[in-house]
Amino acid sequence: MTDLKICRVCLETNVRMYQILGSEVQDVYEKLTNKKINEERSAHHACYMCFRQLQKCRQLVTKAQRAEELLRQLSTNSTNVSNTKPTPR
Ligand SMILES: [Zn+2]
Repeated sequence: MTDLKICRVCLETNVRMYQILGSEVQDVYEKLTNKKINEERSAHHACYMCFRQLQKCRQLVTKAQRAEELLRQLSTNSTNVSNTKPTPR
């Protein structure tokens, strides 16, 4: 019973599992659960379906962060440009 692998997201047991600890989705999983898994001894697995969703979630986070950064740069640039424009009448 101690080696029973259970998905930490959906609690599924009889499917292919992936280790979360040390994987690319570890940080996303920790943000979602607000919990560090490094500090625990128990293994953390996600089934292949949830692991895929965690990967997609990670991609979404990265995409949103890039967009934020671009918008921040554009905002900074447009502020500079608008400061040089004459005031409309
Ligand atoms: Zn699952």
